[in-house]
Amino acid sequence: MSDTWRLYDRDHRDFMYELMDTKVESIPLPLLGEIQLRPDIHDHIKINGEIYSVCILNLANNAAFVRRLDLSGNHDTEYKPNARCPHCGYEDIDCFEWSGDEGDRECGHCSLPFSYTREIIIEYSTEKKGPSNKPVRVEL
Ligand SMILES: [Zn+2]
Repeated sequence: MSDTWRLYDRDHRDFMYELMDTKVESIPLPLLGEIQLRPDIHDHIKINGEIYSVCILNLANNAAFVRRLDLSGNHDTEYKPNARCPHCGYEDIDCFEWSGDEGDRECGHCSLPFSYTREIIIEYSTEKKGPSNKPVRVEL
């Protein structure tokens, strides 16, 4: 097996799992480049000045699917309904599963570390438990 690995842009498709066993020749994605080193999941690779993260490996075909990262750090990460990575801006919709109201995590996209705090807002609801009147005691 060759040590040449082809890099494909994962973001050209929404769901790539079907490509895990697909022959490389039939992958309908633009080829970003080739490298002579076996990549690992979450490796960062620089292609034409942009940083990409390896998210899927097709071991049978020496193909890696990579996602471009925006590591500018200019992401709004405060008081969001879902946690966002402060490095790449990735929104983790499964953050409700994180244990504790604060801690350290590693981003599922860029694999860089960050800390988080979870703020829980308490809201109240009420329902009537009887009629909305009471005998009048004094009437003027
Ligand atoms: Zn990230």
